Amino acid sequence: MDCYICRKELTGKYYIDWWNHKICESHLNNDVVSCSSCNGFTKKDIVLSDGRVLCHVCMDNAIKPGDSIEFIKSSVVNTLNKAGFDDLRTEDISIEIVSAEKMAEIRKSSVNIQNKGLTLSNMISSFGLLSGKNQKFRHTVYMLTHLTKIEFAGVLAHETLHAWQVQNNIKMSSKLTEGLCNMGTYLIYQTMPSSLTKIYLKILHESSDPIYGDGFREVYAHFEELGWQDLIRKIRENKTI
Ligand SMILES: [Zn+2]
Ligand SMILES: [Zn+2]
Ligand SMILES: [Zn+2]
Repeated sequence: MDCYICRKELTGKYYIDWWNHKICESHLNNDVVSCSSCNGFTKKDIVLSDGRVLCHVCMDNAIKPGDSIEFIKSSVVNTLNKAGFDDLRTEDISIEIVSAEKMAEIRKSSVNIQNKGLTLSNMISSFGLLSGKNQKFRHTVYMLTHLTKIEFAGVLAHETLHAWQVQNNIKMSSKLTEGLCNMGTYLIYQTMPSSLTKIYLKILHESSDPIYGDGFREVYAHFEELGWQDLIRKIRENKTI
């Protein structure tokens, strides 16, 4: 059994990552860390300005400002449409890829690489303000730069469901709001089976966050009982779950 990094035979204590790569004890946190994107062991060759370390595979797949994202956007929308979010008005959604520093500036918070997406919705027409009908919004989705294509799609689905909730005048608790958005991420990863999506799904299911993790598990339980179509219909009609 050889070390994934130095290729020498492993003797004594060693570490294993989620990809089953094994490394000598001496490498970890020294010249080797976990890739910020896929959690696999990697040398610290590629360090982003926000502190993330990417392995070469994730770097090759990273979406950066200026990259074409039309294909990812349309496949995300397509998948959401098929599940039952068929009233999405995507023409009202624009996407910007930004650095973690820029993301922090927009959120008015400190730099946090866990903030991978943010949707800001602006009302552009308020006819029927009281009834909530005929309101029109423009949504700007800010996406953190250097996400892998798959993660980009997952985060974009989450953000798109924020826009969908605003478009449908749905105002739930932040737990249910984020939980439903994470169901969009779940849907994307579920429809793209790979070793990477398996890891992302594990992270989604096991998140200990009281809003994102607990919210996801709560909405997921409703989904298991109702299925996509009925879950979406219920939320659209009752404005909650
Ligand atoms: Zn080694
Ligand atoms: Zn990686
Ligand atoms: Zn969210």
